[in-house]
Amino acid sequence: MHCRACDTLLSDFESTRRNANTFEFVDLCNSCFKEVKHIIPVIERKDLITSVDIDDDLDTEGEPEDYKDFKDYIVHRNFNED
Ligand SMILES: [Zn+2]
Repeated sequence: MHCRACDTLLSDFESTRRNANTFEFVDLCNSCFKEVKHIIPVIERKDLITSVDIDDDLDTEGEPEDYKDFKDYIVHRNFNED
């Protein structure tokens, strides 16, 4: 599965992100999705998030509260897997 906007190969997390109203797959990479995330309610498979999904593109201009939780989740999970 590739991003509908930029054709980047999607991670499992990205390719399973669904519109919370229509339940259709959003099919956008994190980079493209962040442009529309404020207007599209989505259901995300947080269990599929990997470090790839929290890479450089998500938070260059301040961190919304949910992304802090997001990162804490990853750090916590990685810690447990080690
Ligand atoms: Zn994209």
